Amino acid sequence: MKTKIFAFGLFFLIAVLSFSGCTQQEKAVEKKPKNIILLIGDGMGLAQVHAAMTVNHNRLNMERCPFIGLSKTWSASDYVTDSGAGGTAIATGSKTRNGSVSVDTAGKPLKTILEYSEENGLATGLTVTCEVTHATPAVFTAHNISRNDHEGIAVDILKSGMDVFIGGGRDYFNNRKDSADLVKDLRDAGYEVCITLDQVKASGSAKIAGLLYEKKPPRIHEGREGLLESATLKALEILSLNTDGFFLMVEGSQIDWGGHDNDQEYIVEETLEFDRVVGIALDFAEKNGETLVIVTADHETGGMTINNGNYETGEVETAFTSGDHTGVMVPVFAYGPGAGMFSGIYENTAIFDKMIQAFGFEIFNKQ
Ligand code: MG
Ligand code: ZN
Repeated sequence: MKTKIFAFGLFFLIAVLSFSGCTQQEKAVEKKPKNIILLIGDGMGLAQVHAAMTVNHNRLNMERCPFIGLSKTWSASDYVTDSGAGGTAIATGSKTRNGSVSVDTAGKPLKTILEYSEENGLATGLTVTCEVTHATPAVFTAHNISRNDHEGIAVDILKSGMDVFIGGGRDYFNNRKDSADLVKDLRDAGYEVCITLDQVKASGSAKIAGLLYEKKPPRIHEGREGLLESATLKALEILSLNTDGFFLMVEGSQIDWGGHDNDQEYIVEETLEFDRVVGIALDFAEKNGETLVIVTADHETGGMTINNGNYETGEVETAFTSGDHTGVMVPVFAYGPGAGMFSGIYENTAIFDKMIQAFGFEIFNKQ
């Protein structure tokens, strides 16, 4: 009898232990992020990352991400994508034609991750080193058959409901062909409109429209020092005010412009700035514990490769095959709850699907 009771007790103990172990594992898998920070290095392929890593003596913040994937960047119209179609795939989960901004191949609007986030009560924002109306930021907030319609895209940004957006392109808001004053409209909608980085840093407003340059922001050493770092810190401060969570997209916009110029120094300084902001995002996520950080690119630019280098001296010898974008897969680095989903090889559209799944949003049909 005693043996029977003992045997039953042991069985019961094992059953309880294995059951609790199982639920603990499930909990780890099921933990959802409250916030997503998506960082896009425009034109940032593996060679751009590795060149910056070499110049930085074999170290980058991106290395702090435990999960790595590869994204296939082709568009609905071309083997080699542009930033309109590449960004649309990431922002909406649908491939479209080159030049399009979050509309499908028939020109019908596609709902974006930022718009789903707004709909679900999250705070949203963008920080970029190009015009806020440029293709990559535009695909998150605007719908247009042409990425070149900066003034039309500015109207969509005004209606987006974002809490914070910081970059260049002020002329598209208040120096327009239709003479409309969208800067006044932004103020009427409750934004503090900042035109210098110092104003952004000093602002205590919970809604900021940072239009820091009339058109394109310049290169870092031509007066843009600290823009992406300070803008992103301010955006995180504002977005954190929403206890339900947030979606923030950060773009290292000019890595691509260095790529088009086949200018190694330009690419490296832009990628290093971008990586410092990846560090800011990861520091935030480490402290916060409920933030998924995703670092990726919309495509590679320049067909860049590395022929030689030296980690000690920080010298690197690169070469280029193109003055345009190329079709090669680009890296995806992920950190935080939900990051495990980003391992593997997948289409760029899967980045949207994984973000939706991580947030746990219901979508009935992807549009
Ligand atoms: Mg871009
Ligand atoms: Zn480009």
